[in-house]
Amino acid sequence: MDKSWLNIKNRADRAYIRGVDGFLEWAYTQLGVNDMIRCPCKRCMNTEFKVHYRVREDLLKKGFL
Ligand SMILES: [Zn+2]
Repeated sequence: MDKSWLNIKNRADRAYIRGVDGFLEWAYTQLGVNDMIRCPCKRCMNTEFKVHYRVREDLLKKGFL
């Protein structure tokens, strides 16, 4: 998986958003959209379980850990 988007500081950058979506698609491959994963954003730091769209929101607002 291409992880170069993790270095993008501007979270409104299309490449960053594409990266987040790609990550989520991969993370939820084995799950349904109503299942939860640990949120890897800077605030939750892999401690909180959240559904797909919540994790996306966090990653776009707070950034990847
Ligand atoms: Zn989070």
